[in-house]
Amino acid sequence: MTEILDTVADLTYLRDKRELEAMFAELIYELVGASRLVLWRIAWGGESRVMQRHLVLPEGAEPGEDRAVLPGLKHGACLEGEVNGGFRYDFAIHDGNRPAGMIELLRPERLTRAETLTVSRLIRVYNNHAGLLDYGSRDELTGLLNRRGFNSYFHQAVQEKQAVIAVADIDFFKRINDEFGHLYGDEVLILMGRLMEGCLGEMGSVFRFGGEEFLVILHNTPLGMAAIRLEAFRNAVQSAVFPQVGRVTISVGFSTLKGDDTGASAFGRADEALYVAKQHGRNQVRCHEWLVRDGILREKKKAGGQIELF
Ligand code: GH3
Ligand code: MG
Ligand code: MG
Repeated sequence: MTEILDTVADLTYLRDKRELEAMFAELIYELVGASRLVLWRIAWGGESRVMQRHLVLPEGAEPGEDRAVLPGLKHGACLEGEVNGGFRYDFAIHDGNRPAGMIELLRPERLTRAETLTVSRLIRVYNNHAGLLDYGSRDELTGLLNRRGFNSYFHQAVQEKQAVIAVADIDFFKRINDEFGHLYGDEVLILMGRLMEGCLGEMGSVFRFGGEEFLVILHNTPLGMAAIRLEAFRNAVQSAVFPQVGRVTISVGFSTLKGDDTGASAFGRADEALYVAKQHGRNQVRCHEWLVRDGILREKKKAGGQIELF
């Protein structure tokens, strides 16, 4: 027992999420004498959510079959099943309140109730600590990721085969503040953040970039699919009733990420498309590439050697 507590104390010193995840997985693996542990993370695979392996213990072990996303596993939940003469356990892991993946354990013998509880509690410690690590990268008002958290997500997305960046800006937000006051304005921002997470959060990362401007990175998403999803979000905003304020609309510009993009160049294209949406009556979603194709926008040449500040 003392040994476990010592290890947990050591783990809470860690500031790197990947390292933390790996060490918690190892602790659980050794604690229950598992024959295999797989750490799965939920990712967006184009049109549906998929489970990706992040870690398999022991190293070099047979990784097992691909798994489907388990629907609605709650905090601390565990599923037990029998496989090939042994037992398999799936423990849910979360990022904040959002299901983020699971830890799969294989063991020749059944886990006792006490062991199951210990693993669930260790996962809770992990979730809480990982949440604290995120704290500085979250916007206080909406709880969304903020500008500070953007860079690491952006660098990951640039390496994907297809990813999309979108900028969304609330229409006539100043009027909402002027007419109903800042507190109601803030309330609209909070609800907008939730709508955005609800519509786009599973396939992407949502940021509040400042004021009433939001940014979304849609992972592994082709332009056509991005257009459908962003249009569905715009429609959800238009259909929602905001307390006291009533109807609110939003304009969106988006663009596909290129391998040599910087945050500023990608943001710039999405922002230009957003500007067109604003100029053409607001409450619409516009795509930079399609605006260039239609001759409404011009492709910008990248200035050689110029440093882009972001
Ligand atoms: P447009 O349709 O062209 O986007 O018009 P707009 O009125 O939304 O645009 P503008 O950028 O002029 O107004 C944004 C306003 O957002 C101005 C500022 O007072 C308000 N704002 C910025 N941050 C906050 C915040 O945290 N809370 C509240 N309530 N208002 C904010
Ligand atoms: Mg606005
Ligand atoms: Mg604005």
